[in-house]
Amino acid sequence: MQKFEEAGYKICKIDEIPDIYVVNTCTVTNIADRKSRQALRKVKEKNKDLIVVAVGCYAQIAGEKLQEIEEIDIVLGNKEKKDIVKYVENYLDKKNKQNFAINNKQNLSMQNKEEEYTENSNEVYVANIAKQKDFDEYGLVTYTEKTRATIKIQDGCNNFCSYCLIPYARGRVRSRSKDRIIQEVTKISKKGIKEVVLTGIHIASYGKDFEEDYKLIDLLEDLNKIDGIQRIRLGSLEPTIVTEEFAKRLSKLEKICNQFHLSLQSGCNETLKRMNRKYTIEEFRNVTQILRKYFKDVNLTTDIIVGFPGETEEEFNKTYEFLKEISFYKMHIFKYSPREGTVATKLPNQINGKTKDERSQKLIELSNKNQTEYNKKYLGKIIEVLFEEEKDGIWSGYTKNYIKVNLKSDANIENKIIKVIPKELEEQEITAVCANDTSI
Ligand code: SF4
Repeated sequence: MQKFEEAGYKICKIDEIPDIYVVNTCTVTNIADRKSRQALRKVKEKNKDLIVVAVGCYAQIAGEKLQEIEEIDIVLGNKEKKDIVKYVENYLDKKNKQNFAINNKQNLSMQNKEEEYTENSNEVYVANIAKQKDFDEYGLVTYTEKTRATIKIQDGCNNFCSYCLIPYARGRVRSRSKDRIIQEVTKISKKGIKEVVLTGIHIASYGKDFEEDYKLIDLLEDLNKIDGIQRIRLGSLEPTIVTEEFAKRLSKLEKICNQFHLSLQSGCNETLKRMNRKYTIEEFRNVTQILRKYFKDVNLTTDIIVGFPGETEEEFNKTYEFLKEISFYKMHIFKYSPREGTVATKLPNQINGKTKDERSQKLIELSNKNQTEYNKKYLGKIIEVLFEEEKDGIWSGYTKNYIKVNLKSDANIENKIIKVIPKELEEQEITAVCANDTSI
C-alpha cells in the first residue's frame, strides 16, 4: 500500500471500486489457500478491467499454477513484492500497447509482437526465495493506527517443521537492521502511538544472520530506551529462546508486556518429534516456569495442532493433560491439514475429520474455561487498559498482559491508558468501570 502511495496512487476505501487490486495471499493452512483463490476469483466481479495482482505466500508457493485463474493479471513472489509498482506499471504499459494495437490492427502486424498481446495471459514473477540473503527493506512505514503499531523485525525460518510450508514461502532467516527498527519505533513514538508489537516469522532467530553479536534481547534493550513508547509486545515466540538469562534481562525492561505467545503445537513428545519441533514438553514446562518466575501476572497463550498424522488417542490425552497443567490463557486450535510438499503429508495414519473435530472441540472448551478463570481474578481489582476503539458508546482496549476490557464512556478515550475496575464477566468478555478520572 505504502509503495503505491509513495508513487502517487490513491488508496481506495472499501466501498470504492479501484483500478488495481492487490490480494495479499496466505498459505498457512489449506483453508488459507482456498480463501486466497476465492478472493482472487471474486475481485473482478465489480470491474472487469481491474488489474488483479496476487502477492504473498500463496502466490510464492503456487507460482505458475495461478495461471489457471484467468482473473489474475500479475503474480508476484515474496522477493518481487517490494517492486510491485514497477511490475504493475510495466504491465499497464504493455496492456496499453495491446489495446492500441487491437484498435490499430495494421500496427500489430507491423510490430509482429502478437505473443505479447495475448488476452488473459497473466504474468508470473516468482524467484527462488531460498536464495535470498537480506531482509527486504520496505522503508519506514506510514502508520494509520493510533494506539498500536506492528513492526516486522525479521523474515524467514530455518526450522522446517514437518507440516509447514513457511520456509519454502518465506525463505531463510533474514533480520532487519537494528538501526531501521530503532528509526521506525522512534518515528512511531513521535506520532503518539503507545504500543509496538514486534513480529516476524521466527523472531527468536532475530540476529542469527548478523555478523555482529546482536540478538533479540539486545534489540529489546535498545527499544526499551525510546521515549514515548510505553509498551513493547512480542509476537509469537519460539520457546527455546527463553532461558533463565534471557528472562532475567527481559524482566528488567519495564516496557515489555507480560504476555507471551509460545507455540507449543503438541503436549506429547512423540508427536512433537514427528512434527520436527525442537523441544520436549519437559523443556517447554521449564520455559513456562521461568516466565512465571520473572513476570507477575504473565499471560501465556499458545497454538496447538490436533489430528497430526499418527496422533493416537493416547497421544492426544497426553497433550490434553499437559495443557491442563500449563493452563494457558488462550489456545488457538488448528486442525491439521496436509500441505502438498511437506514431510507430514507422507506420514502414515492420517487422522479423520471427525476425530479432529472432537479433539479440537475439547481443547476449545478447555481454552474458554482457562480464559474465564483467569479473567475472574481481575474482578474488583484496579487494572490499566490502553483503549483502542469504540462501538455504540462502548470502548475496548487491552491490559499490558493482553486482557480485553470494555468500558462505557461518552468521552473519547482512544489511545489513553486508564485505570479501571472489572465488574462483570460474561463468557470471555470483561466489562469495567473507571477507577478514577485520571488518565495516565
Ligand atoms: S518454526 Fe516451524 S511452524 Fe514456525 S514458521 Fe518455522 S517451520 Fe513453520
